[in-house]
Amino acid sequence: MDVVWYEREDVKDQLLIFGRGIQGVSPFDVILEPDPAKCHSGSCSFTDRRITVNPTLFSAPDREQYLLTKGLLVHEAGHRRHTTPLYLPPITWEIANILEDERIENRMHEEFIGVQWLIMKLARRFYKDSRHLDPTSESPDEVVAYFLQLRWALRIGQPVKGALSPLNQQLWEEIKPLVFDAWHAANTESVNQLAEEITEILGLTRLETGDQSSPERNVSNTPPSGETITSERK
Ligand SMILES: [Zn+2]
Repeated sequence: MDVVWYEREDVKDQLLIFGRGIQGVSPFDVILEPDPAKCHSGSCSFTDRRITVNPTLFSAPDREQYLLTKGLLVHEAGHRRHTTPLYLPPITWEIANILEDERIENRMHEEFIGVQWLIMKLARRFYKDSRHLDPTSESPDEVVAYFLQLRWALRIGQPVKGALSPLNQQLWEEIKPLVFDAWHAANTESVNQLAEEITEILGLTRLETGDQSSPERNVSNTPPSGETITSERK
C-alpha cells in the first residue's frame, strides 16, 4: 500500500533531523501536521517548545512539497533562534509578525548559506499565491497587503502585483522607513515598537489582507488567536 510522502519513516526522519539541526542548541520538537484544522501552515510555540509545520500547505508535487516544508522549517527555526515572545494587542501582533517574518528570514539568510535557496523557494511560492492589490480600495489593509507582498517580491526581484490607491500610496510612503527599519532591526522589541507606530499611522483596528500573511497563519481566515508563533503573545 502506498504511504504519502510525509508519512514515510525515512523522510520524516530527514525532516525532523533537519528541523532540529537548523535551530541550534536546545532545539524544540519538530512535528509534521497535515491537518489544516490543527496547523494551518506553521507555528513555533515557546510554551510547548514545539515547531509544527503543515507539509501539505502548498498544492504541489511530492518533491516540491518536501522542499517547501524544509523552507517552512527554516522559517520557524528562525523564530526559535531570533524571536523574543512578548505580549502585544492582537492587531499590533499581526503587523509585528509580518515584519518579524522578514527580519528572521533575513537573519537565517545571512547566517546559513545552505538554506538561502529554501528561503527563496518559499518566497517565490508565497509571491505566486498572493493576490493583486486593488488600486480602487482605500482600505489601509491594502497597505499591509502591499508590504507583506513586497518582502517576497524584493527577495525574488519581481514587482508587487497590482497597485495602491493614491491615498494608500501616501500612507505607504509614510510608513516605508519604519517597515525597512523593522526588516533589519536588531531584535523583536524594536520590531514591536515599529509595529505599534505603523498600526497607529494606518489607523488599523482589525485586518483583512485577503492573503496568506505569513507561514504562521492566514489573516483573512483565522481569528487573532491560535496559530501564532507563540502562545505567550496572546
Ligand atoms: Zn513567521
